[in-house]
Amino acid sequence: METRDKLKILADAAKYDASCASSGSYRKRAESGLGNTEGMGICHSYTPDGRCVSLLKVLLTNYCIYDCSYCVNRISSDTRRARFTPGEVARLTLEFYKRNYIEGLFLSSGVIQDADYTMDQLIQVARTLREEHLFGGYIHLKAVPGASPDALQLAGKYADRLSANIELARENDLIQLAPAKSHTEIEQSMQQIRYRFLEAKDSKKHFAPAGQTTQMIVGATPATDAEMLAKALSLYDTHKLRRVYYSAFSPIPHGDPTLPAQHPPLIREHRLYQADWLMRFYGFDQSEITTAAEPNLSLQQDPKLSWALRNRAFFPVDVNAASRAALLRVPGLGLRNVDRILSIRRYHRLDFDDLKRLRVSLTKAQPFLTAAGPNRAARLLDTQRLPDQVTPPEQLNLFESAATARTGEL
Ligand code: SF4
Repeated sequence: METRDKLKILADAAKYDASCASSGSYRKRAESGLGNTEGMGICHSYTPDGRCVSLLKVLLTNYCIYDCSYCVNRISSDTRRARFTPGEVARLTLEFYKRNYIEGLFLSSGVIQDADYTMDQLIQVARTLREEHLFGGYIHLKAVPGASPDALQLAGKYADRLSANIELARENDLIQLAPAKSHTEIEQSMQQIRYRFLEAKDSKKHFAPAGQTTQMIVGATPATDAEMLAKALSLYDTHKLRRVYYSAFSPIPHGDPTLPAQHPPLIREHRLYQADWLMRFYGFDQSEITTAAEPNLSLQQDPKLSWALRNRAFFPVDVNAASRAALLRVPGLGLRNVDRILSIRRYHRLDFDDLKRLRVSLTKAQPFLTAAGPNRAARLLDTQRLPDQVTPPEQLNLFESAATARTGEL
C-alpha cells in the first residue's frame, strides 16, 4: 500500500483519540472549496509553557487484537487496515517537520501481538527520531496498558508526554465494552509513569517532562457527569495527571448496536471541562457542582453560574474588598481577571467601567458584584428572572471548546 493511502487510513483512525487536545466540528462545504473542519492528521496541543504546537496525529497501525466495542479499530470491525513500519513514521515526521507542517508527533496504535511488542514499536519510532535524527520536537506516545515498567521507562526517555487512556469512568462499563481492559491495569501504567517521572526528577534525568494525560469517553454509556468528574478527580489526585481529556463518544461505522446511535451534544463535553477547571483551579468541591439529585451538569448554564444561582445568599461580593477565593466564585470572573482586580485595587477602587475595560461580561457578573459607584446587585439578585437574564444564548463552536480546554476561563 502507498504511504499516502496508509496515512489516510491511520490519520483518520487516530482522530478518535482526544488525549491530545482536539475537538470536532462539521460544516457543509463544496467539494471544490478550500478548507475542511473534519480534516485529520494534524492536531493541536498545548505544551506545559502554554505554546500551541501542531502535531502529526497518527496510528502506527489500526490492526488490534482487542475488541473494544466503542472503537473502530476493534478486531471484529470491517474497517480497512493499514500498518506503518517505525521507520516510515519517523520519515514522515521528519519530512513534515522540515516542510514546517508540524512541530511534533502524537503516536498511538492498535495492540499488535501484545502490549510490550506494541510499545516497543512505538518506542522504535521515538528512538529513531531522537537518536538517529537528533529530533528535538515534541513527541507524545500512547502508553499501552499492560506494557512492562521497562517499556514505559524507555517510552518516557524519548517522549515528552505519555498517555494511558482510562476510556470509561465506570469499571463495570469498561468490563462490558472492553473486556480485555481493566481500570486496575490502566492505573498501574499511570502509577508506573508517575513513579518513573519522580525518580527521573530526583536524578535529573529525562522522563516525559510534560507528564501524563488520559482520555475519558463521554456519552457512550449512562455514566453521569458526577461519576466522570469523580473519576477524573481521583486520577488527578492519585497519579497527578496533567489533564483529563473528555471526548464525546463518536458513533462509528458498523458500531455495536448497544451503543448510542448519536454522539452526545458537544456542549456536554464543554461543561465537563468547565467543571474540571472549577475543581482544580477555582476552589470548588465536586459536591458544589453536582449533587445526588442533579448528577448531570446543566447544558444551558455553565457550572459556576448554576452554583451562583443556587447560592444567591453568598452574593453580592464586593469587588474592592472580597478575598480571591470569593471573587473566583463570581460568574464571569476568570482566573486572569481576578488576579488583575487584586492588583489594580491596591491603587484605586474599581467601578463597573473598570470591569468593562477588563472585558468582564457584566451581563453575567453584575448581579453578583458590588463595585464603586451605583450598584444594582441587590435588586437583580432578588429578580425571579435572573437565570434568564444572566444565561447568554450559547453557541458553542470549535474555538470556544478548545479555548476552555486550554485556559478554563469561566
Ligand atoms: S485496544 Fe485500543 S485500538 Fe484496540 S480496540 Fe481497544 S480502544 Fe481500539
